[in-house]
Amino acid sequence: MEVKEIQTKSILTLSKLPDTDYVINPYVGCRFGCTYCYASFMGRFVSKQINDWGEYVYAKINAPELLRNELRKLKNKGRNKSVLFSSVTDPYQGLEAKYKITRKCLEILLEYGFEGTISILTKSNLVLRDVDLLSKFRHAEIGMTITTTNDDISRYFEKFAPAASVRLEVLQKLNQTGLKTYVFVGPLLPHFVAKKEELDSLFKAITKTGNKEIYVEHINLSKYILERLKKELKGLDISILKQFYYSKNKSYRDELDNIIMELVRKYKLKLRMGSTIYHDELKN
Ligand code: SF4
Repeated sequence: MEVKEIQTKSILTLSKLPDTDYVINPYVGCRFGCTYCYASFMGRFVSKQINDWGEYVYAKINAPELLRNELRKLKNKGRNKSVLFSSVTDPYQGLEAKYKITRKCLEILLEYGFEGTISILTKSNLVLRDVDLLSKFRHAEIGMTITTTNDDISRYFEKFAPAASVRLEVLQKLNQTGLKTYVFVGPLLPHFVAKKEELDSLFKAITKTGNKEIYVEHINLSKYILERLKKELKGLDISILKQFYYSKNKSYRDELDNIIMELVRKYKLKLRMGSTIYHDELKN
């Protein structure tokens, strides 16, 4: 894997995501290298190909200092604003243990007296290291992405990320600290997880950790993602790939949405955004 230290020009970025005002991405690239990752397009900014995703990580080593200056963009100490770590990388991937860029940014936000919401989204147990800091914010929430209860499936699609069972344990520990948590269930993996029985186990396991709120996301089958997926799924039965293609159909998604709503009610979870998240590729 290629690791590089870089200087970035900005770090507190206005977000296009519906649920957050700003994003902070301390790294370019993500070692977890998930096969379905939509952020693989980031390679175009550093002369990398889609298929290089997971093989390079650039650490934005000047991010904390830059953040100190950029916080001037905010008014009223950021009251009623939210900052997400992160949208196109995992803020707690392995290199964070060495560089501590996420941690240093949190320290700067605390020092500044940030009064908005800090939201973390990760697949990593390393987030537990920063519970001391996260507990000091007025509003903080930690999201774990969990796509399955089956470690073989998580290993297959999320190669270098901590296994699903580890993430469930982390979620339980976070809930025991009293910090607010949420789970990002996405993408719904056709054939492997996107069926009633599997999803029931997943929702049950999530509820058992004490977590109460979830996002659920359909798979994003934009062309560049599908290309990478196809490469990974090569060698599996052709019927599995066909199911991925079929998962673009409205009837498939309607059926899946009904299952999700049923399970949300069954496990008394709060579904953020009010429904399953769709991607632009199906809105046209
Ligand atoms: S952890 Fe997130 S950012 Fe990293 S490869 Fe997986 S989906 Fe992409």
